[in-house]
Formats: sequence, C-alpha cells, structure tokens
Amino acid sequence: MTRRTAIGIDLGTTYSCVAAWFDEHNRVEIIPNLQGNRITPSCVAWDEAQLLVGEAAKNQSTRNPKNTVFDFKCLMGAKFNDGVVRKDIETRHFKVIEGTTGKPMIVCEHESEEKKFSPEEISSLILKNLKEAAEAFLGTTVTDAVITLPAYFSDKQRQATLDAGVLAGLNVMRLINEPTSAAIAYGLDKSADINSPNEKNVLIFDLGGGTFDVSLLKISKAGTITVKAVGGDTHLGGENFDQLMVNHCVDIFKKREKKDMSKNARAMMRLKIACEKAKRDLSSTTQTPIEIDCLYDGMDFTTKFSRAKFEELNAGFFNMCIKHVENCLRDGNMHKRDVHEVVVVGGSTRIPKVQQMLTEFFDGKPLCKSIHANEAVAYGAAVLAANLSGNGNKRVRDLVLSDVTPLSLGVKLSLDHIMGVVIPRNTPVPTVKECVYETLYGTQVSVVCDEYQGEKKYVKDNIFLDTFTLYGIPAAPKGVEKLKVCFSMDDNGILRVSVEIMSTGNKGSITIAMSGDTSKDEIKKMVKKIKQ
Ligand code: ADP
Ligand code: MG
Repeated sequence: MTRRTAIGIDLGTTYSCVAAWFDEHNRVEIIPNLQGNRITPSCVAWDEAQLLVGEAAKNQSTRNPKNTVFDFKCLMGAKFNDGVVRKDIETRHFKVIEGTTGKPMIVCEHESEEKKFSPEEISSLILKNLKEAAEAFLGTTVTDAVITLPAYFSDKQRQATLDAGVLAGLNVMRLINEPTSAAIAYGLDKSADINSPNEKNVLIFDLGGGTFDVSLLKISKAGTITVKAVGGDTHLGGENFDQLMVNHCVDIFKKREKKDMSKNARAMMRLKIACEKAKRDLSSTTQTPIEIDCLYDGMDFTTKFSRAKFEELNAGFFNMCIKHVENCLRDGNMHKRDVHEVVVVGGSTRIPKVQQMLTEFFDGKPLCKSIHANEAVAYGAAVLAANLSGNGNKRVRDLVLSDVTPLSLGVKLSLDHIMGVVIPRNTPVPTVKECVYETLYGTQVSVVCDEYQGEKKYVKDNIFLDTFTLYGIPAAPKGVEKLKVCFSMDDNGILRVSVEIMSTGNKGSITIAMSGDTSKDEIKKMVKKIKQ
C-alpha cells in the first residue's frame, strides 16, 4: 500500500523551505520551487495584474514596495496595539492598519482597489505556493504537513500558524519548534555513530532573518530527543543587521548630500537590498562596495563597507546572542563544558564574527555545521511528517519527541495583579497542571480568570491570552470556597484552561487559541476571500 506523502515546511521569516521523505531514496529531499531553487523568499506582492508569491514577488519589490509584503511573520497572532508590534510596523514598507478584532491587517492595492489581508492570509499564500511546488515535484496531491515555528511563539501565534495552514488547504499534522526540528535532522544524522556517548547534550543556535532561537537538547542513543530548555528573541536576526547598515548609509548620505532619504520607501528598499547583499559578501570578504545609481533626488550613492564597521555596528546584537546562550544554559541547568555539540542553523550563522564568538564562548569547541544551515529545519519537519504518516525507515519510525513550553503560563485571579504560574517555562508537553486558589473576599460570587504567558512578576508585563468568567460561587467567608484551575497543553502547544468551583463541581473552560483572534467562521470567510 502506498501511503500519502506528508511534507515538512519551514515557514521562515525571510525564507521558507519544503521537504519530504522519499521512500525510493530512503531519505529526505529538499523540494525545489518552480524556479528550481531550494529556498523560497517569504514574500508576497500584488502588481496591477496579479498576485505574486516567492521569488516573483521579491524580484519586483523595489519597483512596488508598498504592495510587496515580507518580514510579516512577527505580525502573526499579534495585536496591532502591542508596543513591540507598533515599532515593527514602523519599519515596514507596506501599510498595516488595525483590524476589527484588534489584529494587524496588511493593506495592499490590487486592481486599483485597496484590499486588507491578515498575517495568516499572507502566510497561507506562501504555504500554498510551497504545497504546489511539492505537488508538482511529487506528481500527486499533498495535504498533510508539519509546519515549524519559532520556539518563542505564543499560543496565539501558534494558532495563527495553524489557521494559515487551514487557509492553504493543508492538514497540519503537527506544529514543531524550529530548533527541535533542526535537532531531529541532527539526531538522525548522528544516532548511527557507534563512537558517540550514550546521551548527547546539543545546543542549537538558530540565527535567521528575523528570529533567534537557542535551545538545549538531550539526544539519546536510541534517537529520543528531549528539549531541556529554549530561549532566544523573536526580534533578533539578519534584518536587524541590515537595518543598522541601512541607517549607517542614510547617515553618510545625509552628511555628504545634506538630504534625508529615510521617508522615501523606494530608496530605502533599494538601499536595504544592497545592504543585505553587502552583508552576505562581508561573510567571505573584509570589504565590499555599495553602489546604487540615482538612489535619491537624482543622486548616486557609493561607499565602501568594511567587515570591521559591520561588526562594530552589530556588536550589541552579537553580544545579545551570546547572552541568550548563557541564559538558556542556566535554564537547562547545564555548564557549557557539558555541551557535546553546538549546532549552527540559519543564514545569519554564516557571519564569521558570530561563529567566532560562539566558538570562543564554548572555549574553542568546533561548531557543527554538517547540516545545511538553510535546510535543516525543513529537513527535520519532513522526518516528523514521515513519522506521523507512517512513512520512512526504521529510524524515522522510532523517532520519539518531547517538547517544552517556551514561556510560563498562568493566571491573574481577580484582585491580585501578580502572575500566578500554573505551567512553568520549559515544562515538557503535552502536560496537565492544576493549582488550587481560594476566594479573595466573602461576597465573591464569580471569578474572572485572565490567562497570561510570560516570565514577568506582574501580569501587565506579560502577554495577555484570554479571559472568561465563572459564576455560581456559593456565599461563604473569604478563603473558604476553593477554585481548581487546570491548564492542559497539547502536542501543538495549544492551551486549554478550566476552572472548577470545588464545592459544587461547577466548571468553566476555554481553549485559548481557538477563542483568540480567529474564530472558525472567520477562517471560512478568509478561505472564501482568497478563493475569489
Ligand atoms: P529565516 O529562518 O528567519 O527565514 P534564514 O535562516 O533563511 O532565515 O536566514 C536568512 C538570513 O540570513 C537573512 O537575513 C540573510 O541576509 C542572512 N544570510 C544568508 N546568507 C548569509 C551570509 N552568507 N552571511 C550573512 N548573512 C546571511
Ligand atoms: Mg529559520
């Protein structure tokens, strides 16, 4: 019997990649896109006539910056009014407005009409493109997929990713953290090594275009991967390095020509593309020219960018990366000398200074680069997809995976504004945890259960997830009635919360992500809109 092929998708901030297990080759293959490339820019654009996705979209971005959407992953599951999100939006060339439910909506002009798209809708267009590439390559319909996401994604961001999958017509079998996925690829590679110790501690350092994930894993000889700790920053990556280069060039231009180009979207986009290219060059040379004809107000721009200047500008970001590694090791209760392998993943790990600082931090340990930096995440997802659909060889079938909650989850029950943690950070999932709380005052008849995610002491500094109210607490003096709060998190990292009045058994519950920004009706509406 031939089983359905399931694909693994790395839905990256800057680049995406799709892979699948091939029985006939007995291994994972990276699936090329319709242009023949193994990675696809996570970019969508509308020109006068049509919708463009991937390379076609990226190639026309300087001509059409306002209708070219990229670097939108951090908007997934986010609130428009969130301070960090607002700051992100300021640096984008496309227009973002507040939608009816408070979510950011991307505005593009298509056929002379303004159209609004949610980040999930934009993501779904990328996913659909990858699905079609896989179908063309495999010669069959593909629906089952494993999709990867950053370890720091909140419940809402995970749900938004699931929604994007549905919109793309995919059956999302599992969401998996990107570094875990890279580790699956890595675990498979190494478990055949007869000289390896019984258990290996592996640190995955994934520095991509927009996100930085660092995770600490235990890989057993049998192939079991346990995530001990995860850390990082969803706003740290190659884009930040590009931006500092762009700012530097804008300053040079200002000094030289007494003109400020920073409000000109087209000039800024052209400069950004030139800086990104220069940055990549600087990973192999120590100096590179930036030359752009007619950049602003009819004036050319030329400069020589040195690796030293690049490193000086970004020293703060590079130091932050190492700090996150330290924090992750501390969370995982591990000394750096007990790390057997340090694996680098993500395009930005090609930067020599990053590699040098990481090697130095690990006292000269050589970094493990055997997994292709741009493909490891999709590779691992394809292995998991094969495992979940019953495909693959014995090693794939034997894969056992345990993941952890990236952030603490908890409640604010009524008056107390302190975060009451129910599931601590780095708890293996799936998990179920219970806490018992008392009523706060004598006349309390209801409880407002606000759920939050984060590490800060006060809930206002954490991520608000959702809320619900449970009525029917019997009249009793303060502290007599007890409330049992139960948090359960499934394999996809989706959270279900229930509160029970213990004396009556009266219960209220909520599935956080489902009742979040995107209801099922809304998904249907979105599917319809895209089909039109
Ligand atoms: P993501 O997973 O966030 O989509 P990737 O892992 O694909 O990101 O990495 C993309 C980032 O890597 C981009 O910012 C790109 O500029 C950067 N990058 C790619 N190659 C190099 C290189 N040789 N030197 C420095 N940066 C690079
Ligand atoms: Mg990535």
